[in-house]
Amino acid sequence: MLRLRRDGLAKTAGSTAITVTHAGETLVVSLRRLGSARRFTLRVRFAARDAVLTMPTRASLREAREFTERHAAWIAARLGRLPETIPFRDGAVVPLRGVDHSIAHRPGARGTVWIETRSSLDSSQCAGFDLCVAGAQEHVHRRVVDFLKREARRDLEEAVERHTRTLGLTARSVGLRDTVSRWGSCSATGSLNFSWRLVMAPPFVLDYLAAHEVAHLEYLDHSDRFWALARRLCAETDRAEIWLSAHGAHLHKFGVAE
Ligand SMILES: [Zn+2]
Repeated sequence: MLRLRRDGLAKTAGSTAITVTHAGETLVVSLRRLGSARRFTLRVRFAARDAVLTMPTRASLREAREFTERHAAWIAARLGRLPETIPFRDGAVVPLRGVDHSIAHRPGARGTVWIETRSSLDSSQCAGFDLCVAGAQEHVHRRVVDFLKREARRDLEEAVERHTRTLGLTARSVGLRDTVSRWGSCSATGSLNFSWRLVMAPPFVLDYLAAHEVAHLEYLDHSDRFWALARRLCAETDRAEIWLSAHGAHLHKFGVAE
């Protein structure tokens, strides 16, 4: 819940935001005070579809507002260039392991979520895949998310198991997250976490992320020896890194609730 105060200062749970007007449009900018920040830095967040201003702890709100107002046109342009979101609903096309699937709502059918192969008119070849979802329309989004998370967990557990076996190590746990800033992480205690959205990418990308985090069980840094180990586990390390920087952000446009 975002409540605007008269001075244009909005208070969200635990954080502050300011609003500025640009070309008749109200832009909301979240403020983040950071002890290590030396200057003001603006960025536009893809999934949250908002702007964040990082500022030094001692900077004033007036300075933050002035800085934001000076860059309002930039913020508006960046927000305007964000790709459209694709909600999980009937007819939407969603990639699963890099292959497009059309969501087909089957309200009368039994079951939850399943995949059907569409055949061409003479039924000689595959014409595409449907991700069929049973039940009421208001449950389609949640059912698709649950299905993708289940598939992601299965693929990631398999890949982590394979890579840890190669190294003779074990991961403490494998978990799923929906973070925008990172695709995977490895804690000092050996817990691995991944974005469930990786299941939408081609399989070599998910496999690479699993190899990357497993390599962190050995080296908790991004040193040369870390990269050598990651490449030994996954021959497509470089290709996957390129794929992620080119297309990774687009995985965040799917399934954003309307
Ligand atoms: Zn890393």
